[in-house]
Parts: sequence; C-alpha cells; structure tokens
Amino acid sequence: MQKGQINVTTENIFPIIKKFLYSDHEIFLRELISNAVDATLKLKTLAAVGDYKGELGDLTIRVNVDKKKKTLSVSDRGIGMTADEIDKYINQIALSSAEDFLEKYKKDANAIIGHFGLGFYSSFMVSEKVEIITKSWQPDTKAVKWTCDGTPEFTIEDAKKEDRGTDIVLHIDDESKEFLEESRIEEILKKYCRYLPIEIAFGKEKEWKDGKMVETGKDRIINNTKPLWTRKPSELKHEDYISFYKELYPTQDDPLFYIHLNVDYPFTLTGILYFPKIKNQFEIQKNKIQLYSNQVFVTDSVEGIVPEFLTLLHGVLDSPDIPLNVSRSYLQSDSNVKKISSHITKKVADRLQDIFKNDRKEFEKKWDDLKLFIEYGMMTDDKFYERAEKFALLKNTEGQYFTFEEYKNLIKENQTDKHKNLIYLYATDREEQYTFIDNARSKGYDVLQMDGQLDVHFLNHLETKFKDSRFVRVDSDVIGKLIEKEDLGESKLTPEQKEDLQEVFLSALPDRDKFMVVFENLGENDSPVMVTQSEFMRRMKDMSALSGDAGIYGNFPDSFNLVVNAGHPLIEKVLEEKEKKTAARLSKITEKIEPLKKTKEELEKANKDKKEEEIPQQDKDRISELEKKINEFEEKRKEILRGYAGKSKLVGQMIDLALLANNMLRGEKLNAFVKRSIELL
Ligand code: ADP
Repeated sequence: MQKGQINVTTENIFPIIKKFLYSDHEIFLRELISNAVDATLKLKTLAAVGDYKGELGDLTIRVNVDKKKKTLSVSDRGIGMTADEIDKYINQIALSSAEDFLEKYKKDANAIIGHFGLGFYSSFMVSEKVEIITKSWQPDTKAVKWTCDGTPEFTIEDAKKEDRGTDIVLHIDDESKEFLEESRIEEILKKYCRYLPIEIAFGKEKEWKDGKMVETGKDRIINNTKPLWTRKPSELKHEDYISFYKELYPTQDDPLFYIHLNVDYPFTLTGILYFPKIKNQFEIQKNKIQLYSNQVFVTDSVEGIVPEFLTLLHGVLDSPDIPLNVSRSYLQSDSNVKKISSHITKKVADRLQDIFKNDRKEFEKKWDDLKLFIEYGMMTDDKFYERAEKFALLKNTEGQYFTFEEYKNLIKENQTDKHKNLIYLYATDREEQYTFIDNARSKGYDVLQMDGQLDVHFLNHLETKFKDSRFVRVDSDVIGKLIEKEDLGESKLTPEQKEDLQEVFLSALPDRDKFMVVFENLGENDSPVMVTQSEFMRRMKDMSALSGDAGIYGNFPDSFNLVVNAGHPLIEKVLEEKEKKTAARLSKITEKIEPLKKTKEELEKANKDKKEEEIPQQDKDRISELEKKINEFEEKRKEILRGYAGKSKLVGQMIDLALLANNMLRGEKLNAFVKRSIELL
C-alpha cells in the first residue's frame, strides 16, 4: 500500500469544495457520469482505430444507490486507469484544475451554476470518502483502488477487479442524505443525462404483476442515446419532430414550425428550434431552450448565448464550442458565441423565408401566432429585421395579408397626405372601432389590424424604419384630418355661435370635463359630431399599459376631442333650433351684458399704459365688480343654453350617436338613447 499527500497549494481545498457550491451540489453526478461517458467513448474510438482488439461487450453505465452502506456509485466499462494514470489525472491534473476553477469563481458563485469545470472533485461536495476502483483496458495492468477521505491525504492500493473500467464509489456524508434517495437521483439523471450518448442504467424496470408493481430483471435505461437533433434531417419525418417536442414539453400544444440546425463549420452546432404556439403571456417564460454540450445538459438559461428574441423559442441547442466553464459576461463577449448567435439568427430567418416563399398560404395561416416572435426579433435585432422585412406581414381589418412592400404599394396613391407623408391607418379593436374603420374604408382607405401583444410597440419601431410614414389609429381624428389632403377652409361660424354651441354640446355629454370641443369644417358626408382621442396621448397610454408600468402616462386622465363639423347641415339646424328656443331670453341677457362689457373695456383702455401699481384702486375695484357681474350673466346664458340642450332631442341624438361610435354610451344613457330613437321614429 502506498501513501501520499495530494499536492495542494491550498490545504483546505476540500472544505472549500464542500461549502462553496452549496446551491448546486447536484452537478457532481453530471460530472461523474460525463467522465464515465468520456471513458466509454474513448474505448470505442480505440476499438474503431484498431488499437483495442478485445470485446467491447456491454457498455452500459450503471448508477447504484445503497442506502444501508450509504453509498452511491457510478460504474463504467470504459478505458479505466492504471496506477500511474490515477496519479497523473486524479492526483495532479484534476486537482489542479479543480483548484483553478475554485480560484476563478470564488467571487462569483452564481456564474458556476450550470457550468463545467470542477470535474471529479465535485464529488467531495457530498461525500465524506470517495473511492475509485479501476482497471485499465491495456493488457497486463493491475486493478487499483484510490481512496480519499476529504483530507489532502489519499491511499492507492491493489484491488480485486476482473472487469475493465471504473467504479466511482461515494460515501455520502450526513448533510447530503438526499442523494441516497432513489427519486432524487432519478430527478438529477433526468435533468442532466436524458440524452447522453451511452446508455445509463438506474435500477430495474418495473411492471404490474398481480395488482402490484414489481421489479423485472431488465435494466431501466434512463436516457435516449440518439436524440433527434443528433440524427440526419433527411431521415426524419414531421411526426418525429412533433413527438420529440412533446417529449421536451409535455403540456404544450403542437409547435408552429421547427428548424433543424446542423452546422460543422466554422463551429459545431446542432439543435432543433421550435416556434411554440403561445396562448397567453404567462406561457412565454415557462418553457425554455435547453443547452447541451455533447448531449450533456448544461443549462436552460440561454440569455446571452442565443439572440434575445430566440429565448422565446423552444427546443435544444448542442455545441461543444460554446465555452461553458466561464462566466456569463465573458460568454456574451466571446467571439465564438457571437458567431453562433448570428448564425442561428440567419438560419431562423432563412427557414421562415423558405416557408413564406414556398407556401405563403400556410405562412399566412400561422402568421397571427408567429408574429409575436418575428416582431420581437425585428425590434431587438437589426440583422434579423433586414432579413425579415421581406416576409413579415401586415394584416388589414378585412383579414388580408401583405408584405411591407405590397402594402406600401396598396396605399401609396390614396393615403399620402399633402405633406407627402404616407399615412398607415390602423385599428386595435375591430369591433370597438368599427364605425371609424367603416368610415375610412368608405373613403377608399385601408385599415391595418394591430391587435397583437406587441403590435403597438412594433408600429413605433416601423415608424423609425419606414421613410416619410406615420401610423395613425383610425379613431384618433376625423377622417379628413387623419390624412390631410387639402385645406378644409375656415368654419363659417361666428365666435358667438361657437361659444353657444360649445356649451350646448358639452352639457349634453356625460362627463364633460374629459372633452374639448373642436370645430372643423368638414363635408356633408362626415358625421356632424364625432368623438376622437389624440394619437399621441392614446399611444402613450397603450404603451404604459403594455409594459405594465403606469408611469406618468398611465395616470393621465382620458382626454377626448368632441369634433363639431361646422360644414354639416345638422349643425345649422341646431343653431336654428337654439335661436328659436332661446333667442328671446338670451338677447335680454345680452342687452344687460353689453353695457357692462363696454364700461369695463373703457376702464381698461384708460389704464392701459399704466403700471399695475399706478392704476387707481377704485378703478381696480370697479373692474373686478364688473367682471363678477358679467360672469353672473354669462352663467345665466349658459344655464339657458343647457336648459335648451337638455330638452333638445336633436342635440341628444347627435351626441349619443358620436359616443356610440366609440363605445362610450353605456347604462342609463344608452337606455335613454334607445327610448329617444324609438320616439323619433
Ligand atoms: P475532466 O473530466 O474535465 O478532464 P475530471 O476532474 O472530471 O476532469 O477528471 C480528470 C481526469 O480523470 C479525466 O480527464 C480522465 O482522464 C480521468 N477520469 C475521470 N473519471 C474517469 C473514468 N470514469 N474513467 C477513466 N478515466 C477517468
């Protein structure tokens, strides 16, 4: 028996290993099994090149738990190690690389999670003693046993082992008893080893017998050694991709598309990406792309490794070229990773382009589900935008789809305003904005349907990309103003008429403080009175609602314009009716106001050139007294106007129709409207 001391610079490497990786202890099993897989693959290579001439036999890697002995073991029939090799690989190289690893990550424990590097020594995170019993493949070598109890001392002795290969036996410590539970081990194996290329057996298959679950003699293999992404696309059928998807995400609906990646130059990358069908926002984050390195699961947090918008996709990526034992920030600046990232982007775009070209019908059918990804990609990745602008679609309220180019050609003629801006009209809700959509369409305009989760953000982005173009929601102004063609001409109303009409219409509204009256000289074909909401204000509100952040805009009150079409005959009719009902009373008040106004004006004129402090106090008092009186009379005028408006069926009907077109007529008011409409019939 030989005794020795592991050559450590830090005497206390074992306590560090034990404590350090606290949150991620489970990876020890992945490390041990990876080593076993490597040793087995090496033997297969030796056999393939003719260096190893013996039988390969059963190469299954076996994981065993012995609860009584408190051991967990991993056994392989790979190349094994000689005593010299143990000394070289375990005592020297493995240990110093474990040291390096710990040194590197001392400051950044989180960076380790899911990354390789600690290797064999990670077994000391969970063990009080570790044994390696191994026999090399080379003829005439002896089996050896290496033992280490978590101090820098180890022993190497001869061992009895007939078979080629390595058994790693962990004596699990008291704090790590969970790793003696079958279910816990199974969970870890399923997570990291599900697609390893060598069969891994854990326990025996069970079956129902006489109403009981009993073990059969058959090994339970926990992995699929030839996962779909490692196979040739030409050998695979559509159903294979779908069933693999179901295997990865059992609760998910069938995907929209998949892309099989297979790159071997200038880096190695395989994988299958799926575009999932997303039913609601919540699902977006739930299932993630899984990253593998030579079929060993590494992580499912791939931010920084794949382009951001692809984090919305599902599937697997496998690349030995992504450096895994480095920190995330390093990863993001790594040139290999950048290359891989842009390659994936290109592949995804190419595939979408293919489907678009070869089967546009199918593409359109899936567009509503697909656009979330594409819009997100176009907004976050300029390279992707450049590719996607050829196949990204716009949908109008009639359910027709257009490419950007096609749509531009469609509206160019009719929707260019007098400033040479191309105006894209859009609606966010086909039902609610129906009147406006209908109005626009009757003018020969086309209206886009922008009701997706990202559409409002997306059109903001398009505005920065499209030259001389604006997006305007169809109900944000009267149609004549949405796309200004020629000057509409001044309204024919006098200031007094405007003032009266303003009071009349405002008083007929349910919530007058939210409205501003605007007079426009539109044609007879436009409605007499309309409610609109400014594009800018509404977009701000929409955006803050989307981002879930109320912000300053979220707290803004709703504000609407009540547009009075001064060119409409019905407005003249209101003026006439108002004259008839109120003229006598109003003129009496006007008679009283006029002299007051005149006196006030004269007083103000007399003091016009004086500074504030030079104006005689008595004049100031007189002016404010006059103002008060004028206001009182004005208020009386308004009261008369309100009285008229309240009784006028014409005014009530016009306002209600305008509100109705915006879905703003509800409850009692709606009831009153219906009754009045029947009366008018
Ligand atoms: P890594 O696997 O990253 O090289 P490890 O610390 O896990 O680092 O292992 C160190 C070395 O020990 C391996 O490179 C290999 O040569 C040897 N080794 C570990 N486990 C086995 C095994 N099961 N069979 C044969 N050799 C092994």
